[in-house]
Amino acid sequence: MSLDGTYDGGNIFAKILRGEMPAARVFEDDHVLAFMDVFPQARGHTLVIPKHSAARNLLDEDPAVLSQVILGVQRVARAVRAALNPDGIVVTQFNGAPAGQTVYHLHFHIIPRWEGVALGRHAAGGMADPAELKVLAEQIAAQIS
Ligand code: AMP
Repeated sequence: MSLDGTYDGGNIFAKILRGEMPAARVFEDDHVLAFMDVFPQARGHTLVIPKHSAARNLLDEDPAVLSQVILGVQRVARAVRAALNPDGIVVTQFNGAPAGQTVYHLHFHIIPRWEGVALGRHAAGGMADPAELKVLAEQIAAQIS
C-alpha cells in the first residue's frame, strides 16, 4: 500500500484493539495501547498504537492525537529501559509499503538494543514464544510510571 489509500478497519492492530486478536498487552491509557511485537527484532520489541484513530501512517494522523501517541511512546520506552536495561533504544515508524510498512494502523516500534547483539530483520524474523512475550510484557508493565 502506498502513502495514499483508505483505512481498513480489518487490519490486525484494529482487531487487537477490539479484542478480536490476542496480544501480550503492556499498557494502555485513554490514548494508546502498547503490546509486544510477535516477530520481535530484539528482546522486548514493543509497539505503541493510537486507540482512537483511523490513521494508516504518521502523515494521516491528527496532530492532537499524535501528540498523545508520542507521549505514550516516551512513557513505554522509559519502562522498557527500566525493565530490560538495554544499552540503547531504537524508535522507528514506517510509512507506506516501499518504506517497509506492513500493518496500516499508525504504530511506533520501540526496540531495545544491546552492545554486540545484532538487530533482527524487520517483519521477517521468527514468531516469539507467547509465554516469553507475556513475561516481558509484565516486566515492562511493572515499570510504567
Ligand atoms: P510495520 O512493518 O512497521 O507495519 O510493523 C508491523 C509490525 O507488527 C511488525 O514488526 C510485525 O512483526 C508486527 N506484527 C504483525 N502482526 C502482529 C500481531 N498479531 N501482534 C503483534 N505484532 C504483530
